[in-house]
Amino acid sequence: MSLPLIDALQRHIETLDAQGLRRRRRTVATPCAPWVEVDGRRMLGFNSNDYLGLASHPQVVEALRQGASLYGAGSGGSHLIGGHSRAHAQLEDRLAALMAPHLSQPRALYFCTGYMANLALLSALAAPEPAQAEIFSDALNHASIIDGARLSRARVSVYAHGDLAALEAALAASTARTRIVVSDSVFSMDGDIAPLPALLAACERHGAWLVVDDAHGFGVLGAHGRGALEHFALRSPQLVLMGTLGKAAGVSGAFVAAHETVIEWLVQRARPYIYTTAAPPALAHALLTSVELIAGEEGRARRAHLADLQAQLESMPVRAGWQRLPSDTAIQPLVIGGNAEVLQAAQVLFDQGLWVTAIRAPTVPAGTARLRITLSAAHTAQDVDQLLAALAILAQED
Ligand SMILES: *Cc1c(COP(=O)(O)O)cnc(C)c1O
Repeated sequence: MSLPLIDALQRHIETLDAQGLRRRRRTVATPCAPWVEVDGRRMLGFNSNDYLGLASHPQVVEALRQGASLYGAGSGGSHLIGGHSRAHAQLEDRLAALMAPHLSQPRALYFCTGYMANLALLSALAAPEPAQAEIFSDALNHASIIDGARLSRARVSVYAHGDLAALEAALAASTARTRIVVSDSVFSMDGDIAPLPALLAACERHGAWLVVDDAHGFGVLGAHGRGALEHFALRSPQLVLMGTLGKAAGVSGAFVAAHETVIEWLVQRARPYIYTTAAPPALAHALLTSVELIAGEEGRARRAHLADLQAQLESMPVRAGWQRLPSDTAIQPLVIGGNAEVLQAAQVLFDQGLWVTAIRAPTVPAGTARLRITLSAAHTAQDVDQLLAALAILAQED
């Protein structure tokens, strides 16, 4: 029997395969931790976003269990139709209080995922008059920002990565009444930190919102783990913060923190908030414990250990043709170049028991395929030594 629709897709998949662009999942049988059992093998991973090692923290796991006994398994509905639990409300209040030094009249809103939060935020900020709105977006922003900008129907102007002069010129040339500058704080595939103070200054000069996607900063940056805004000591009513809770916070979901009027507008108009089932309240309950850990002494100690591990990676062996991207964060990319080469490098590491992800286009520009090494406070110095030794072997191969 001929299946023309299926056959057409199959040919597309074969093309991806031939280009070294086919993505494959590996199945993990153990909790999120540096050492995992993957496809039946015990491996040391440098690929998770669990930067503080909270995903398997006994207190967080216990809080999740307790949340399930308090609130059951599911929320039963969307936030506006009965699914908004006391646990969600408590988490939002806690996050608003945490971010209070950086925002005026702060309020927070919990989302099922960061992807949805970005869709919600960008489309809602542009919603009053999409034809009069312009979104200024860094060229290396996360896919969820790109998709949110598309969904908003606003005009989208992409500026070259970190290019403040280009942004300033685009803002000056804009005739849009609603202007929204949006940037990752820590770029997810490069590990560098956006020049947020200069971005905010430009936004204040041009009456623009500054939307900061702190997916890789929240929990990790700042003395209290409040993220990029704390790192740079920023405060402004024009700031809108999106932080994720499935990375350093170790659980799942995301939040937007901003002036209470922004949050109220999201509740009224943000379709990815309104038309979806609220996340299980137990997740919000577990996150209350995560946030306490992040803001407290344990968070401070874990951030200090993470910084030590980053320093240890400074001695990463690099061979001619590779490029180690400058990064002050737990994301430490090693650019290899071609798809075939990066897959080969990842395989050599895998054969030595090390699991590091190969990142290729379209996630990063073609020709800059890379190993995305991520560190966690759950790693030990010995774990990092083992990675360095394996990279040394890889650097000598030909
Ligand atoms: C992971 C990530 C998101 C999406 O967050 P999820 O909660 O995983 O959906 C958004 N922005 C950036 C920069 C990210 O790295």
